[in-house]
Amino acid sequence: MRQSVDVLILGAGLSGLSVAYHLEDLSRLKTLVVEKEHIPGGTAGSVRRGGFVFDRTGHLLHLHDDYAKRRIKSWMRGNLTLLERRAWIRLQGRYTRYPFQANTYGLPEATVADCLAGFLRTVYRPRPSPGRDASFADWSLDRFGTGICRRFMFPYNRKLWGVPPSRLTSDWQGRFVPRPQPSEVLAGALLDQTKGFGYNTAFYYPKRGGSQALIDALASRLRPATLRTGAAVERVDLAARVAHIQGLGEVHYERLVNTMPLPDFMDLSGPWPGPVLAARRRLRHATVWCLNLGIDRPEDTGRHWAYYPEQRYPFYRVGVYSNFSSNNAPAGASSYYVEVSRPGGAQVDLRDLERETLSGLHDCAVLKRGDRLLVKEWMPIPCGYVIHDFAREPAVAAIFKQLGRLGIESIGRYGAWKYSFMEEAILDGRRCAKRLCGDAAEEKPA
Ligand SMILES: Cc1cc2nc3c(=O)[nH]c(=O)nc-3n(C[C@H](O)[C@H](O)[C@H](O)COP(=O)(O)OP(=O)(O)OC[C@H]3O[C@@H](n4cnc5c(N)ncnc54)[C@H](O)[C@@H]3O)c2cc1C
Repeated sequence: MRQSVDVLILGAGLSGLSVAYHLEDLSRLKTLVVEKEHIPGGTAGSVRRGGFVFDRTGHLLHLHDDYAKRRIKSWMRGNLTLLERRAWIRLQGRYTRYPFQANTYGLPEATVADCLAGFLRTVYRPRPSPGRDASFADWSLDRFGTGICRRFMFPYNRKLWGVPPSRLTSDWQGRFVPRPQPSEVLAGALLDQTKGFGYNTAFYYPKRGGSQALIDALASRLRPATLRTGAAVERVDLAARVAHIQGLGEVHYERLVNTMPLPDFMDLSGPWPGPVLAARRRLRHATVWCLNLGIDRPEDTGRHWAYYPEQRYPFYRVGVYSNFSSNNAPAGASSYYVEVSRPGGAQVDLRDLERETLSGLHDCAVLKRGDRLLVKEWMPIPCGYVIHDFAREPAVAAIFKQLGRLGIESIGRYGAWKYSFMEEAILDGRRCAKRLCGDAAEEKPA
């Protein structure tokens, strides 16, 4: 079997689907998207189990770009609700509102005092600000002080990324870590402050179908022949511009767009020069082990999710799918995601992890005695978080220099090897399609 296409896209997550959608909008290029799974969606896809809809942990749409907002709304045809975030942090046996740096109200007095004193020292005894190349640890200490870092910033980020904050860069945090004013930190220590902080104070979520609904709405707009599922890329010969694809055989391409995790793509393609392969070996990631739970009673706190910085809990975050949409669970039931992070490639004993996880969930009253688990299923996300350590940026630069020489696009959260969200995957796909079409690209109005 042998076929030829103008553009071959590896992976039908949001970024791959978005490239195909925008190419069909902008050009007559013959495009093929190949996806190894039997349905499109990738990390933003969902599964159905026993009447529940489970995403790959909470997948909430934070829409800031007008184009993306208009497009997504038109694709979803009313199947979206806007929700005000209800996020909390569990510390010292209590819950306090997210973000921690603005809300210590309700915690033991000694903790509140320590966090405030550390924060006020950063305001009234400022030191020279750390530069752009500061570690996340130094950046956080400079902004929030010792108490907030010791109790939340350091342990939480250590748990999430699996490396000490001193080994993380601070360049990724810009819009993700809220920076309250001193008056807000004081108010949040004295009062139950309900004011929202940060980039995701409100978010959209599908009324029906979980995050897969967005994928399906986008995929249904492609020509039927554009998307092939159950078609894993097995090998790409970059010199000959030929990909070997499960069920399809040889596919010759003019242009290649990768959205698979960058190291995986490099492992099944070649040839690569030695220094580029050395750069690939410096890329690190974390695997997210997500435990999906369906429980036989309604959820009673109304929380969307909570963060767990303390070591006594193996998980870093627990969220409630059925509080995003009641259609995610059967009537009278509720559904949860429990997120545990481990270094990519590490062996995990799921039996031990499950025991510790369920015991932690009982300890913090997410699970109650007598609860019946209608669904209990681990769903790994092998490449969950790209680790922004100090080796990442030079390694990615070396790899992209070579990709540029070969005319290969590598986009999306994992193709570009970065920390980003669904909206950006859609916009990455649009920008990529425009580059592939050149200056002639002219879009239909959103
Ligand atoms: C735990 C977690 C929580 C998140 N929460 C949010 C959130 O609340 N809001 C938000 O906006 N974003 C969130 N994100 C980010 C969001 O999931 C991503 O930005 C987005 O889904 C990335 O899409 P993508 O297409 O770039 O990558 P992917 O969705 O990973 O797509 C890559 C595709 O390539 C396919 N593939 C891999 N290997 C092969 C092969 N050999 N052959 C063929 N196909 C292959 C994969 O199956 C996959 O479908 C979260 C991510 C994680 C990990």
